[in-house]
Amino acid sequence: MSLSEYNQKRNFNSTAEPEGKIKQSTTKLIFVVQKHAASHLHYDFRLEMDGALKSWAIPKGPSMNPADKRLAIMVEDHPYSYKDFEGTIPEGNYGAGNVIVWDNGTYTLTDEDKLDKVENKLQSDLQKGHLSFILNGKKLKGEFALVKLKTKQENTWLLIKSKDQYANDEDVLQQDKSILSNMTLESMEKKDG
Ligand code: MN
Repeated sequence: MSLSEYNQKRNFNSTAEPEGKIKQSTTKLIFVVQKHAASHLHYDFRLEMDGALKSWAIPKGPSMNPADKRLAIMVEDHPYSYKDFEGTIPEGNYGAGNVIVWDNGTYTLTDEDKLDKVENKLQSDLQKGHLSFILNGKKLKGEFALVKLKTKQENTWLLIKSKDQYANDEDVLQQDKSILSNMTLESMEKKDG
């Protein structure tokens, strides 16, 4: 797992985003979804794996409806400490714009699995292009799948809610507040003037 691409893209004298270092949960793996008003609004979906965050940019955001297949573009790994990043990436920096932590929590494959076993399974699933996991977030709950598309672009995946007791057809994106600060991207913009 490498954070060199993440570090290369950023000047840490000029952005408050954390510098990329390998770090890891000791109990349960975490996930985070950040809502990011960059040049195009998107949701960044991140899963902890091997001390970093595997990351996908989802233009339309996640859905709790199994009928929705949401395009998820795999992007560079982000550092573990990025899970808490919320604020403004200043103009002139990579990904300039406001970021809120839209959802977070832990994730598992099944409740029984030990951390190292889970990570080995995830690594092989990632190679196969089919990840299946159970999210325990504030907004996103239950089983989801990330499925890699067989296209020329190496980074094109779909995020799909699996059918379970948490699946529903309400628009989860209507819950638009940060789970850390209660701010919306819009209220953050006002605050910044
Ligand atoms: Mn982003």
